[in-house]
Parts: sequence; C-alpha cells; structure tokens
Amino acid sequence: FLKGKSALITGSTSGIGLAYAKALAAEGAAVIINGFGDAGEIEKERAALAETSGAEALYSPADMTRPDEIAGLVRLAADKFGGPDIVISNAGIQHVAPVEEFPVEKWDAIIAINLTSTFHLMHAAVPLMKAKKWGRIISTASAHSLVASPNKSAYVAAKHGIAGLTKTVALETATHGITVNCISPGYVWTPLVEKQIPDTMKARGLTREQVMHDVLLEAQPTKEFVTVDQVAALALFLCRDEAKSITGANLSVDGGWAAE
Ligand code: NAD
Repeated sequence: FLKGKSALITGSTSGIGLAYAKALAAEGAAVIINGFGDAGEIEKERAALAETSGAEALYSPADMTRPDEIAGLVRLAADKFGGPDIVISNAGIQHVAPVEEFPVEKWDAIIAINLTSTFHLMHAAVPLMKAKKWGRIISTASAHSLVASPNKSAYVAAKHGIAGLTKTVALETATHGITVNCISPGYVWTPLVEKQIPDTMKARGLTREQVMHDVLLEAQPTKEFVTVDQVAALALFLCRDEAKSITGANLSVDGGWAAE
C-alpha cells in the first residue's frame, strides 16, 4: 500500500530502525536508510531493501548530531522523491551513570541525537509534507518517555522531550493531512540494549544474568523482550489511511511496563 511513497528512517542500519525499513519496503516504499556501521553490511541491507520494494533504496551516513547533515538528508529525499512522505526519527544512543558522574559530553550527545535531531527533521520535512497535503512523522520514543529509571538522566529527559515535541507538531499540522506520533517500546532485544548491560553491571554491581532478568525484564510485566517486528508493525499501521485520525499519540509497545 506504499507504492509510490518514500520513507526516510534515521538510525536504520541496525535494530528497530532496520525493521522499520524492511516493513516499509515490503509494502513497496522507496526507503532512505541512515546510520553507522560496516560499509559492506550496510550496502547488503540497502540492496536487499531495493529488491524487496521494487523501488529505489538509498543510504545516507548523515550524522544526527549535525543540523546541516540532517537538512541534507531531507534534501536528498526532496531531490530524489519530491520529499519524504514518511519520516521516522529513530536514531538513538544510551549512556548509564548516576547524574553526578554523568559525562557532560554524553549528556550533549544524547540530547542531540535522541531529541534535537527530531526537531531538525520536522523543521525540514513539514513544509514538504504540507505542500503534498500528506505526511507521516513517527518517532521512536520509549517507555522512558512516560516513566523514569535511575542512571538514565539524559535518555529519560530526551525521550520525555520527544513526547512533548510530538504533541506540539501534531497540533500544528493537524489540518494538513499530516500525522505526528511516537511509539514507546519497552525493552526490545537490539544491540542498544545488549551494549548497556556491561555499564549496568558496573553501576549496580550485578552479573549479566541479573541485569537481564532483575533489571531489564523486571519492569516489563510480560517478562519478555519486545521484538523489532512488533514495533515495526505498529509504525506500518500508522502509515495507513485508516490511521489518519491518530495524531499526537504516544503509543506504548512495552509489555505493560507503563501501566504499573
Ligand atoms: P541500535 O543501537 O540497534 O540502533 C541505533 C541506530 O542509530 C543505529 O543504526 C546507529 O548507527 C544509529 N545512530 C547512532 N548514532 C547516530 C548518529 N549520530 N547519527 C545517525 N545515526 C546514528 O538501537 P535500537 O535499540 O534499535 O534503538 C533505536 C531507537 O529505539 C532509539 O531511539 C532507542 O532509544 C529506541 N528504543 C530502544 C529500545 C530498546 O529496548 N532497544 C527501547 C525503547 C526505545
């Protein structure tokens, strides 16, 4: 149902972002993927996406800490596809430390990548979507946009920011055929989660098993990790015409976490 449409997904060389790209391409969308990683692996993913969609698939290494590169990413979609019909702001990083030990440069990087890049994407893409009278903006927020956990000050602040930014821009674009929503997963098994296990082990003096079961899945009532495909399926639904009245929403996919 997305033939003829284009989608730009930040942070899509891995994890949830790559699952969004695959889901959109499977419906025929031309996709622009973005993020870091091994050049050969990324090219393999890009080629597979083009094969799946039967449309173009592009890769951009734009750095989400750089406003000029984010504007360039949206310009690429404008030049190639007449503007991105779908923008998914998904790039994100994490750092775990108590506030008094939190490295200032980590705070700045998390706010830039996890929050401010979404503003720059919206800033550049909304005028193009308004011109087409159609658009879908989706951000990957987190259960941490609704509740907090210790030692994640920057991440929790950024994700709460995404929830507020989503509501604001949804109101500004409501009469233009554009919807703006965020998806708030609980713990999804991806490299981002796997990478924070050693820091949490150190911060809390726990073993790997204890971090997985007593810290990560402790908060998730289902006691199961969310899958990337479950998150991508919701994003796909938000792109359908049936979802045109869903805007300004923060949609949880968290095994009941935020209900507690
Ligand atoms: P991941 O580490 O697998 O993927 C992160 C992606 O962002 C990668 O493609 C990486 O290259 C890219 N990236 C990092 N820094 C970048 C930068 N400066 N510029 C451009 N791209 C950059 O992580 P993931 O778990 O798939 O996370 C994706 C999003 O989902 C993040 O916003 C994260 O906060 C959110 N999230 C994840 C979980 C989870 O449990 N995994 C839960 C809730 C929310």
